Amino acid sequence: MSSEIRVLDAETIGQIAAGEVIERAASVVKELVENAVDADARRIVVSVERGGVQLVEVGDDGAGISRAQLPLALRRHATSKLTLATDLSAIATLGFRGEGLAAVAAVAQVEIVSSRRGESSAWRVRGHAETVSEPEPAAGAPGTRVRVAQLFDNVPVRREYLRSPAAEFARISSWLSSFALGYPGITFSLRHDGRDVWTMPAVEDARERLAMVFGREAAGALIPIDGAAATTISGGVRGFVSTPGFDRPDRRNQLLFVNGRLLRSPLMSAAWTAAYATFAMLGRHPYGVIFLELPPDHVDPNVHPTKSDVRLRFGSQVFDAVRRTIAATLQAHAAQRLQASTSATNAFALPVHAGDGASPVSLFDEAFAGTDLAQPQMRVLEQVARTYILAADGDTLLLVDQHAAHERIAYERIVDAARSGAPSEPLLVPLVVELDTEQSAALTELLETLREGGLEIEPFGEGVFRIIATPAGYGARQFDLAGFLDDLAAEGKQRDVRERVWASLACHCVCVAGERLERGEMTMLLERLQHCRNPMHCPHGRPTMVRLDSQDVARMFKRA
Ligand code: ADP
Ligand code: MG
Repeated sequence: MSSEIRVLDAETIGQIAAGEVIERAASVVKELVENAVDADARRIVVSVERGGVQLVEVGDDGAGISRAQLPLALRRHATSKLTLATDLSAIATLGFRGEGLAAVAAVAQVEIVSSRRGESSAWRVRGHAETVSEPEPAAGAPGTRVRVAQLFDNVPVRREYLRSPAAEFARISSWLSSFALGYPGITFSLRHDGRDVWTMPAVEDARERLAMVFGREAAGALIPIDGAAATTISGGVRGFVSTPGFDRPDRRNQLLFVNGRLLRSPLMSAAWTAAYATFAMLGRHPYGVIFLELPPDHVDPNVHPTKSDVRLRFGSQVFDAVRRTIAATLQAHAAQRLQASTSATNAFALPVHAGDGASPVSLFDEAFAGTDLAQPQMRVLEQVARTYILAADGDTLLLVDQHAAHERIAYERIVDAARSGAPSEPLLVPLVVELDTEQSAALTELLETLREGGLEIEPFGEGVFRIIATPAGYGARQFDLAGFLDDLAAEGKQRDVRERVWASLACHCVCVAGERLERGEMTMLLERLQHCRNPMHCPHGRPTMVRLDSQDVARMFKRA
């Protein structure tokens, strides 16, 4: 990056998504802090008064601006970060349009005091609207201090949009702490109305900042992802994502950095959510932070005036890489958890039955009755409330939700069967079902997906259908087609249609809460659950089991 600030040529100006607008105090903070980062600062101090409307001041110890260049910094389309129009295709800095400071000066009084690294003198300029003062000598440490006062004094309309100082300050604090996750090597401090609010000292890696941003408890549920090696994109996917069971009602806590830029990206949010498909509860969202590193010419930040969105070349590959990296981590994590809950005694360690896979064994069919169950270490003790299976070994108590567990098992079998192409078993006597118009229409659209999942249905006259085959192994159940369609309709359409249909199909194939189970059936259920890829959650995201080890119990009795 050259350190000369120059006015961009007309051709480049014509190509940038111009029209930088300062919407609120937090936008001022963003522009100034990004400039400090571009100037290689190691320490950035943000001080605001009255939520930033009275004053925003950002001080840094970065490269500084020389006397000759100072007035240019405030000129529109003057930047040191871009020289040729062709540079637009590979932007490596946060700023590039030379509009930030000019946009701020258009709506506030700006004063810059700066001292170039290696020079002993500091200089000051003031700017407002179109006017910029001559540089005058000032006192200042190496680096740059930008003061922005009386925000929107000359544009009363924008003041209307401002909320209370406390609310504006909250925005600033939350943006700055999120941004700080992307720059662990920089010390950030925030002051409000003369008080030190927080400081994040420079640290080795982002992990050490998670608690500050997400809160201690929420940060405890974050696990690292690292797709550098596994992905097919050039670049990498790193970050920290919440484990299933820890989630938020909205997507605001899904932070995303693309090449150091903190962004909102509906596409990446969708990839994130898709990775949780069968882990997360409907309507709840995972949280955490993802860092995408891509070749600069694969990322175009020049699509939005506030640079809060980017266009990605190879977007669908990136989508896939993000989804796969997260899904793989979650799967490994779930397997580890289950291992931990059973490892000490190798509980659940039943022999794999000869019939497994080859001839599908349902909990409810005869094949099961003759199965020889070796004594498991994890002993089924009791069915509780006809809904939960209580099991234990020497150290651990396990409470399993029989429906959720069976649903998970059936779901994975349906998915596997659909892949291997041997999904269904014909019914001896087809089941004839009558549906209303709405249900008939809904069903007609789903026939193909259901067939792939093993439920074969054919139209049999106006509003009448025949179930001719069911998912292999689950034929003993009377399939409640109308109930299935109602559940599916109630569920909403956030997910992939096959995942939704198959999850509901699994739900309707299996044992329900309130159903009495034999001890052998319960043992079988636990054993099959152990072989699932995602044993801890049902396909709708509810937990399948609660586990208490002796330490948990000790804590409950206040022994620990
Ligand atoms: P941009 O960041 O898009 O280049 P700005 O208007 O935000 O546009 O800044 C204009 C120029 O002023 C920058 O290119 C940079 O050379 C200089 N500048 C702004 N802030 C700082 C700072 N904190 N430290 C050093 N130089 C700065
Ligand atoms: Mg800038």
